[in-house]
Amino acid sequence: MGIKIMPNWRRTSLCNFDSSGEEFTHLFFVFALTRGVHRRKFITMLKRRTLSIMLIFCAALFALEFDGSFEVVTPSGSLNFGFVERGGARFTTTDEIAKYSDNRFYSAIKRKETLSIGGESYTFSPDNQFVTVAGRTYEMPIATIVTGNALLVPLESFIEIMADRARMAVDFSGGKAVFTSEGEVQRPAIQPQPTQAHEELAVPAAPVAEKKPPEADVQQDKPSEVVADTPAPPRKTKWFIMIDPGHGGKDPGASAKDGTREKTLVLDIAKKVAEAFKGDERFEVQLTRDDDTFIPLQKRTEMANSRNADIFVSIHCNAARNKDARGTQVFFLAPARSDHARATAALENSAIFLEEPTDSMDVLDFIMADVIQNEFLRESSRLAVLVEESIARDAGIPARGPAGAGFYVLNGCFMPAILVEAAFLSNVEDARLLAQESFRQRIADGIADGLREFIRELPE
Ligand SMILES: [Zn+2]
Repeated sequence: MGIKIMPNWRRTSLCNFDSSGEEFTHLFFVFALTRGVHRRKFITMLKRRTLSIMLIFCAALFALEFDGSFEVVTPSGSLNFGFVERGGARFTTTDEIAKYSDNRFYSAIKRKETLSIGGESYTFSPDNQFVTVAGRTYEMPIATIVTGNALLVPLESFIEIMADRARMAVDFSGGKAVFTSEGEVQRPAIQPQPTQAHEELAVPAAPVAEKKPPEADVQQDKPSEVVADTPAPPRKTKWFIMIDPGHGGKDPGASAKDGTREKTLVLDIAKKVAEAFKGDERFEVQLTRDDDTFIPLQKRTEMANSRNADIFVSIHCNAARNKDARGTQVFFLAPARSDHARATAALENSAIFLEEPTDSMDVLDFIMADVIQNEFLRESSRLAVLVEESIARDAGIPARGPAGAGFYVLNGCFMPAILVEAAFLSNVEDARLLAQESFRQRIADGIADGLREFIRELPE
């Protein structure tokens, strides 16, 4: 089953459940994770789902209703876009545009939706006047609007941009848009935004009534080829990272033979990660705990969400029955594909049994949360790859390969989220290394370097 990245303006919508196959995968995944009292809650939850289905039905009744359909006649055929009217302007939706797109990608962290149309990528942002096409930025006279499940895109502006990309003129006079190569109609009013340095090369939009012979139109196209690519504003410059040292207080986590505890080691590593970002203006780092306190798993996630963190990193040390198992491994939230990954998640999830009854996560919340983190699957798994490679490189220990597993603490994060198992306390060699402050420093540097790399390679 393919990974579906849902735009996060759908986040609050019940339409997250629009793919029943995917939903059932989640249900079985959660069912496999639940035990005893949790399983009873799961049954209760199934009853509550009946209510959810009714709510979904009601939501469908209030789905976006179009005020009409607008035809665009292009040399390769007619396109039809449903539109709504808002404040005297017509808007279509990215869902409508997607009818003519062979590829659609949503970057949750950037809140940008990219659709491939005619072999070129169009990137839209919510409440934003700028559209980037194949690296060039167009400014529309009005901004996009987020409404319910949909991102509304100004219809005429979008059509003008398409025409400009096709190097054609567009005629709106007949109640529809007709693309034409004749020079009798005005060139699209919307042109790519030039940079300051190339301003003199920019061609102003032709006046409405001006007529040009066809060859002049061809001439007019040439200078815009030289216009430099412009990055899409506004650009994110500050990143908030929530670092979560695992366990704490009455929950010691795993223990080494000599009694060294996971909760103590991971707190030290977490503090060193925060230290590694000191003085770097681009990052703000906060720890979920900076002393030996017990924090319920769900509370850790809530802290990251309430601070609007861009990235969540939970830090742990592993333990296994097989004393030979060693090395570093980074996990993200996804159904486990190996017994080892499943065992690691079970170990880290066991903290939930130390929580007060009121602390434990409602199972319905767990499912909703799981669906939410699924939105970030692509980014979380990439983050896991970069951080694991970087730890292995900086600390000089074997990398076990990033993996998915069902960690409670990664659930419900509204952001890319990973869980780092620095090394094995159950392995003599790893435990000896973890006891050294210099090794913990290298682990922390590895985590920080991996995070920087992740930010660096994010698409514009
Ligand atoms: Zn742990």
